[in-house]
Amino acid sequence: MGQRLSVSLRFRFFAVLGGLLIVAMIALAVISKWLIFPALQAEERTAVQRELDRATRSLMLNQENLLAQARDWSHWDDTYRFIEGTNPRYRDVNFSQQMFEDMNYHLMAFFTLQGDVHFLAGLEPTTGRYQTCTAAVDLCAWMAPWVKTMQSAMAEHVDPTALYIEQWPAIVAASQILHTDESGPPNGWLFKVRAMDDAWLERMVDYTGLPLSLDVTPYDAAQPTELTFSGDQVRASQQFPAFGTNEAVSLGIELNRVQYLASLTTFRYILAWTAGLMLLVIGMVLLLLERMVLKPLRQLTALTQPSCPSPDSDHLTLRRDEIGLLARAYLEQLTCQQQLNAELLRMSTHDSLTELPNRRLFDQRLIDGVSHANEHNVPLAVMMLDIDHFKLYNDDYGHQQGDECLKKVATALQNEAIHHDVLIARTGGEEFSALLPGATPQQAKAFAHALIHAVDQLRLPHGTSPVSHYVTISVGIGMLSDSETLLPSAVMATADQALYLAKAQGRHRVVLFEPPLASCPVSKQNTPS
Ligand code: GH3
Ligand code: MG
Ligand code: MG
Repeated sequence: MGQRLSVSLRFRFFAVLGGLLIVAMIALAVISKWLIFPALQAEERTAVQRELDRATRSLMLNQENLLAQARDWSHWDDTYRFIEGTNPRYRDVNFSQQMFEDMNYHLMAFFTLQGDVHFLAGLEPTTGRYQTCTAAVDLCAWMAPWVKTMQSAMAEHVDPTALYIEQWPAIVAASQILHTDESGPPNGWLFKVRAMDDAWLERMVDYTGLPLSLDVTPYDAAQPTELTFSGDQVRASQQFPAFGTNEAVSLGIELNRVQYLASLTTFRYILAWTAGLMLLVIGMVLLLLERMVLKPLRQLTALTQPSCPSPDSDHLTLRRDEIGLLARAYLEQLTCQQQLNAELLRMSTHDSLTELPNRRLFDQRLIDGVSHANEHNVPLAVMMLDIDHFKLYNDDYGHQQGDECLKKVATALQNEAIHHDVLIARTGGEEFSALLPGATPQQAKAFAHALIHAVDQLRLPHGTSPVSHYVTISVGIGMLSDSETLLPSAVMATADQALYLAKAQGRHRVVLFEPPLASCPVSKQNTPS
C-alpha cells in the first residue's frame, strides 16, 4: 500500500532555507542598526568636530596675534615714556584712522597702573570715524562700557586675552607697559580691542574656508559644544565665555552631510544587494534542490508506490548519480522479488517432480468448474488416472527410475491435456486427476482413451507388470450429473469409484462411473447438501 508523507523533504528544505533567510535578514538588520549606522554617525561626528576645532584654532590664533601686537606696543620705551608723560609726539606719530583700519583695531586703551584712563583711541562703531580722548566722555562716550569692563578686569585679574561683549563681541588683549627690554617696573596697561563684526567673520571664513557664523548666546558651561543634525544639514557650535557677563560668543558652522549621506546611500545599496543576492542564492539552491534532488526523489517515491501509476522509470535508471543507483537497485530488487513471488506461486501450485499442476491448484479449479457448470447448466467431467502396478515398477527398476517414469508419463499426459485444453494435475504419488469442463461422457471417454494411448505410445518397459510389458494407466471418469451431490468432493468420489472398477476389471482401461440403477441420478436443482 502507498504511504502518504506527513512532512516532505521539499517542505523541510523550504522551511530550513526560509528560516535561514529570515535569520540572515535579522542579522543584517541588527548589524546595520547596532554597528554600522552608529559607526557612520560616529565618523560624521568626528569629522564635524574636526571642522569645529579648526574654526576654534583660527579664533585662538587671532587672539594670540592680537596679544602679540599688544605686547609689541606695551613693551616699548616710547609707550613707557608716553604713560610717564615725557613723550608728547607719541600720539601723533603712532595713531591714525589708517593704522586702526589696517590692523583691524577698534579700540586701544592706555591705563595707569592705578587703573585710571590715560589715553583712548578708536573707531566709532556706527560711523567708523577715528576718535581720541583722555576720558570716555562726549564723543568717546561709546567707549565707556569697554573702559569700565577693562577697569574691573584690572581690579580683579587681567587675562592676557579674553572676549568681551558690550555693544558687540570683541577680542581683547591686555599687556602691562614695560621698557623695550621688558624691564620694569610696569607703569600701566594697554588694552587692544578687535571687534568680531561681519568684516572679522568674513576674514575668518576666507582664512578657514568654513561657512562660519557668530552669535551671542547665554553661556551654557555644561555643554559648550553642541552638534545638531537635521536632514541633510548638521550645525556645530562652540561657545566662548565672555569676561564679566553670563553671555558667550558662539562660533558655529553649518555643514552639508554629503559624506555621511553618501556613505549611508552606499551602505543601503550594499545592504539591498546583499539581501537580494542572499534571496537569489537561496532561490537558486531551492531550485537546484528541487530539480536535482527533490523531483527525482518524488519520482523515485512514486516508483515505489504500487498504488500509483508507474512513472516512466527510464530517466531515473539512466541517471549516473545516487538517485539513479537507488532506482536501479530498487528495480533490480523489485524484479528479483517478482520472480521470487512467481516462483513461490508456481511452487505452491505445481508439482516439483513432474511440473504438472498440483492438488491445490486442481482443487481450486475444480471448485470453480463445478460452480460454473452449475450456474450455466453445462456438463462437467472429472478423471482419476493411476499408473498400473507402479509399486512393482519401483521394486524392479528402483525409485529413481520410478521418478523418471513418473516424469515421462506426466509429460505425455500434459501434451494431451494442452492439446485438448484440459487441466491435468498430479494429485497423488502415481495418481493424476483431470478436469474437463463442458465435456460429455462420450467426449470424456474419448479423451481418456487418448491419454491411455499416449502413455502406451511411450512404451516404457515394465517387466513385472501382469498387465503389459509396458507401463500402462487406468482411468476412472465421473460426471457431475452422476454425482450424489454437487460438491467437488462428491464428483471426485465418482471418478475414484470408476478408477477402482477399472483396476478391479484388470487395469489398463477406462471406466465411466454409472450410478446404481436403484437410485435415480441427482438433479442439479434438488441436490442434497
Ligand atoms: P495398482 O495398479 O493397484 O495401482 O498398484 P500400484 O502398485 O500402482 O499401487 P500401490 O498403491 O500399491 O502403490 C503405489 C506405489 O507408487 C507405491 C509407491 O512406491 C509408488 N510411488 C508413489 N509416489 C512415488 C514417487 O513419487 N516416486 C516413485 N518412484 N514412486 C512413487
Ligand atoms: Mg495409486
Ligand atoms: Mg497404481
